[in-house]
Order: sequence, then structure tokens, then C-alpha cells
Amino acid sequence: RIRASGGHGVAEYQIESEQENLHRFLESRALYRALREDRIGIALQAQVDLQSGAIVGAEALARWTEDGRPMSPASFIPVAEASGLIVPLGGRVIELACDALRAMERAGFPDIPVSVNVSPLQLHRREFIEELAATVARHGIEPRRMELEITEGTVMSDYQDGRELLARLRRLGFGIAVDDFGTGYSSLRYVHSLPVTRLKLDRQFTAGVGGEGGGANVADMIIALGRRLGLDIVAEGVETPAQVEWLRRHECPCAQGYLFARPEPVEDFIARLRGQA
Ligand code: C2E
Ligand code: MG
Ligand code: MG
Ligand code: MG
Repeated sequence: RIRASGGHGVAEYQIESEQENLHRFLESRALYRALREDRIGIALQAQVDLQSGAIVGAEALARWTEDGRPMSPASFIPVAEASGLIVPLGGRVIELACDALRAMERAGFPDIPVSVNVSPLQLHRREFIEELAATVARHGIEPRRMELEITEGTVMSDYQDGRELLARLRRLGFGIAVDDFGTGYSSLRYVHSLPVTRLKLDRQFTAGVGGEGGGANVADMIIALGRRLGLDIVAEGVETPAQVEWLRRHECPCAQGYLFARPEPVEDFIARLRGQA
């Protein structure tokens, strides 16, 4: 619907937002079909110990190809969140992460944990923890082999409930990482009071280190904060040797990024583990 009497700007804006709505609607329908037809997969991205260079973990990332075309999570994850499809999608990713953990175990790597991303809608669903515990138990996976990545907004949207849910997950033995740390709000005010085990230094801060200028201040501060609070830290989006150099010097224990490995099929990740063993 275009308001005929509106100025140009308004009309254009309305056309654009309707196209955007249509696009999201079509994408959510296609995603629904892909889920029903079991065409959602995961890729694993290695996490590396910066002192030894060894692979010490992996993040599971949702993957969806439609007509041979890889769809971007930056697009379909928000669509899944807005439509509620994130609940079955997230459940599928957890199942696939369990399959990957079993495959790693069979290949002789029972001690490499896998991280999965958990959206607010998933975490705050009444059944989430029970279903998660049942899923890992059914696969014979100990909860300490799985880390749940949440963002600051996930907890802050309902702080009391969020904190209690995280505490229950910790009591069951799951690791909890704060993803994209430093990009949300009130990180500094609450992080000391949350039962989390790891901070993921957001890619935008990693991008600021190892170069010219003062872009490293925030990274420096977050690493120091993690150390003070006794939390593990992983730097996201590491792309250059200069960044590795800087992170090592500032005693960041762990990193993830294209420099070490891209997200890859589970078999390729296991081959990578074999290659370093
Ligand atoms: P994230 O959880 O922060 O995941 C890291 C993203 O950064 C991934 O993008 C990864 O491919 C990308 N990345 C890793 N290393 C580098 C690097 O060196 N440089 C650059 N430029 N990028 C790097 P991806 O797979 O496209 O996922 C984007 C976001 O979508 C994720 O960000 C996460 O928020 C969300 N997402 C992905 N899978 C899931 C899922 O199963 N559930 C939920 N709730 N969200 C997911
Ligand atoms: Mg993540
Ligand atoms: Mg992240
Ligand atoms: Mg991110």
C-alpha cells in the first residue's frame, strides 16, 4: 500500500519495507520447509589454544542451502527469531551438535567440547532445559562437553529469569559463554553476577588489535576483566598473525577465526583434529 498523497520519501520507504516484509515472509516459509524436510545442517569452527596452537573446542553454526545456494545466518537467524522457527531450528542444531560430539568421540577425541548458540526465545521457553537435558542424555553426552552461547540481550531481556536459567544450566554441568561480549548493554554492570564460564570477545574488538592506533583498548579491558572474574576468554574473528601476536602478549587464552579455520563440515573438522594429533 502506497500512500498516493505522501511525499516521495514516504512512498519509497513504504515500498521498501513491504518488499522487506515479503522477503522475510518468503524466507520464513522456505525455512519452515527446510526444517520439515530435514535440510538444516551445521558447520564446526575450530577454537584454538593460543599458547600451544592446539584445537580445544568448536562452535556449531547453523547452515542452510536452498537450491544449491548457501543462505546467510545473518539473514535467516533473525527471520527464524521473528517467526518462532528458532525453537525447532535451535533444537535441530543441538541434535546435530550431539551427533558431532559422538562422531568426535568415535574418532578418538572425546574431550573437545562443542558450543551452540541459544536465542532468547529458546532459553526462556519453559521446556528448554528439560528438553536439552533429555537430548544430551539420549545421545550419551555429558553436559560438560557442551557450551551454550548466549548474548547479553538474552539475559537482560528478563534478568531474574535469565540468571536463574543459567544457574540451572550450570548446575547440570553445561558451560555458558557470553557471545559478542561488549556489544550489548550493561555488560560491565551485570557480568560479575552471572553464572557464566566464558566471554567471547566480539569480532569488532579483535579487529581493533594488532594494528596502528588505540583500537585495542576495549579488547585489553575485556581480557583483564575476564581474568579478574576468573572467566575463560576466546577472541572471535581472528584473521591476522598480528592479532594473534597481540592476543598472546595480552594473555588471551583462546581464539577462533578464519586465520585458523573456517566453519566446515563435521567430517572436515574431525579430519583437522586427526591432522594435528
Ligand atoms: P556468532 O555466534 O558470533 O558466530 C560467529 C560468526 O562469525 C559466524 O558467522 C562465523 O562464520 C563468523 N566468523 C568466524 N570467524 C570469522 C573471521 O575470522 N572473520 C569474519 N569476518 N567472520 C568470522 P555465521 O555462521 O554467518 O553466523 C552469524 C551469526 O548467526 C552467529 O554469530 C550467530 O549469532 C547466528 N547463528 C548461527 N548459527 C546459529 C544457531 O544455530 N542458533 C542461533 N540462535 N544463532 C545462530
Ligand atoms: Mg556464537
Ligand atoms: Mg559471536
Ligand atoms: Mg557475532
